[in-house]
Amino acid sequence: MNKVVTYSCEYCGKEFYSEEECEEHEKTHIIDYKDKSNEEIAELLSDLSDMAYDYHIGGQTMGMPIRNFKSLMDTAATRVRSSKFEQEHVALDSEDSEEN
Ligand SMILES: [Zn+2]
Repeated sequence: MNKVVTYSCEYCGKEFYSEEECEEHEKTHIIDYKDKSNEEIAELLSDLSDMAYDYHIGGQTMGMPIRNFKSLMDTAATRVRSSKFEQEHVALDSEDSEEN
């Protein structure tokens, strides 16, 4: 009899035979939004707004009335889009700059 232990990704359920492989894979799901442009963040906030009515519990999204959550995400997206703030490190996003 062979006992086979598998590890599954807590984000997507993909299975691995080693804990290390699984942990490495899980890191690929983690995003640091500091590295994203304002437009990308605004898009994500708009997506959250669009999904608000699909992800609610008892008429509340993240503990607030769905309509409030939607309004908050829409307003945040609009303000992020109109922000003049420039992120200097966005351009470095695709480069391997961690070791410098
Ligand atoms: Zn995964």
